[in-house]
Amino acid sequence: MRVMKRRNRFYDTSRFGQPEIRVYHKKGVRKKCPRYLLKCGCCEEKLEIYYSEDGLEIGGVNGAIQDWREIMLPLLAIKDKRGEGTASKKGKR
Ligand SMILES: [Zn+2]
Repeated sequence: MRVMKRRNRFYDTSRFGQPEIRVYHKKGVRKKCPRYLLKCGCCEEKLEIYYSEDGLEIGGVNGAIQDWREIMLPLLAIKDKRGEGTASKKGKR
């Protein structure tokens, strides 16, 4: 898997109009899985995501990849309010 890289500037609203999530990656060591550390763009709130081939632990909650997929994909598929990705659809709203 390719590791995600970001600029991680504090309160960077240039891309999304609201502070961008800061993303840090840590390699796995021995029995510890590699993880992403996600930090809020506007404060010090954070979330750890440990990942392996068969599962994900997000914020201390462990689940199979398929389980997370079922929960997260519908959320992530929500179209944004500016209508991005909905341009071809008629009669929206
Ligand atoms: Zn915040």
